[in-house]
Amino acid sequence: MPAVAGVSPEVLAKYQPVIGLEVHVQLLTQTKAFCGCVNLYGGEPNTHVCPVCLGLPGALPVLNKQAVEYAVLAGMALHCTINKHSVFARKNYFYPDSPKGYQISQFDKPLCEFGYIEVADSLKGGIKKIGITRIHMEEDAGKSIHDGFADSATRTYIDLNRCGTPLIEIVSEPDIRSADEAFEYLTKLKEILLYTGVSDCNMEEGSLRCDANVSVMLKDAKEYGTKAEIKNVNSFRFIRDAIEFEIERQVEIIESGGAVKQESRLYNSAEGRTYSMRSKEEAHDYRYFPEPDLPHLIVDEEWQEAVRKTVPELPEAKRARLIAEYEISAQDAATIASSRSFADQFEEAAKKAKSPKRVANLLLGDVLGRLKAANLELEQSPVSMAGLVLAADLAEDGKLSSRQLKDLLDICFAKNEDFPAVYEREKPQQITDTGAIEAMIAEAIAANPKQLEQYKGGKKTVAAFFVGQVMRASKGQANPAMLNELVTKKLDEA
Ligand code: ADP
Ligand code: ZN
Ligand code: MG
Repeated sequence: MPAVAGVSPEVLAKYQPVIGLEVHVQLLTQTKAFCGCVNLYGGEPNTHVCPVCLGLPGALPVLNKQAVEYAVLAGMALHCTINKHSVFARKNYFYPDSPKGYQISQFDKPLCEFGYIEVADSLKGGIKKIGITRIHMEEDAGKSIHDGFADSATRTYIDLNRCGTPLIEIVSEPDIRSADEAFEYLTKLKEILLYTGVSDCNMEEGSLRCDANVSVMLKDAKEYGTKAEIKNVNSFRFIRDAIEFEIERQVEIIESGGAVKQESRLYNSAEGRTYSMRSKEEAHDYRYFPEPDLPHLIVDEEWQEAVRKTVPELPEAKRARLIAEYEISAQDAATIASSRSFADQFEEAAKKAKSPKRVANLLLGDVLGRLKAANLELEQSPVSMAGLVLAADLAEDGKLSSRQLKDLLDICFAKNEDFPAVYEREKPQQITDTGAIEAMIAEAIAANPKQLEQYKGGKKTVAAFFVGQVMRASKGQANPAMLNELVTKKLDEA
């Protein structure tokens, strides 16, 4: 990202950035917010439409119950108060892809308020809460298509399939103090929403869209500066870059005696800078008024309780529990909890295995290591969770040495085959003859007098060294359980 000319780190350090985010999220309902049309991305243009979402005169909206439940579920997962009584409102503006001439939204009485997301505090260290001002329900507009047609140079086409898709808008307090905090807020928000299942949060398809409000003020200032709003940036990394650019741009204006204009800006990721889109002076007056075609929305306690029962274990809680239950590191817990379905699969496997911790270690070490080396995603692993359970149990019972296990996993990855099949075919040899193992131990002891001395001197951990020597000599074929037992015995006798 190119820095803005003329703003040194020292000058930048005099200012405090202030950021608030507005995130639009499409809900994964079967049908649209106010009609029975299918709620599906894409499709032949203008086929998922009806008189209601086309805004034909006389057509009346009927609220989708599932959309309300998803909005309430999201609000609960984000620690919001759910308002029993909320009101739909018309937000009036003309736009070619919004045929009604208004958007049904919520204004002064939103469904959810006063939530938060926790992020690392970039100023003081530790954890801080970023307040969520409100979550309200609204409907999406259609799409204007500016390219892809022979006459795109002179015409714009309209696809109204998206019209009426249910959305929630999640508005943060201006509590964010750096681009990194904004990035973490968005990452956490997406993770929580994916856990609840209310949206697929697919940014390429526009299911999650973010506007960033950015201002700067001198560090000892009492009042926030004038904000600019960066519209519709399509990746979290670009949002971080856009915010960083915007902070420097505003500091430079103030330092050179100017004033930041309140306006909407667009981010150009190729150039790494924002451009003015429209200023607030020409901004719309939306003339909000209560939607006359919809009754007030009442979500009573009973309904709220029913939805509350569907709130899943959330990422933060899951990570903490995984760490405690499987004795794994915070980083490993984060890997497993990266998706709810992956964590569920892991836990189901771990519960079936003799040693859940061994399943965790196999997955996080051996399998993930190989996936990374092969540039594969978790879902592409040739080794299934069932395969992992078998591998862990064979190792736990001492029927496979760790060397044999690693060799078998290598074959799984080389041939893209699951573990049970590879194990059946290869069935590695094991030396289970006591005499043969003892003979190899005796050889190892004779060849390493120094280590024997250490053992005799009380350093019992040296036994592992001898186990390793015998394993290598036997090409990993010595039965690990027998070997462990016999090594101690032979060392004590020696
Ligand atoms: P508007 O009336 O311009 O839409 P709002 O008060 O509704 O502004 O706030 C919209 C978003 O902008 C919220 O996320 C809020 O936290 C954020 N915001 C408000 N004031 C500032 C500011 N001075 N600097 C940065 N963000 C701000
Ligand atoms: Zn419709
Ligand atoms: Mg606003």
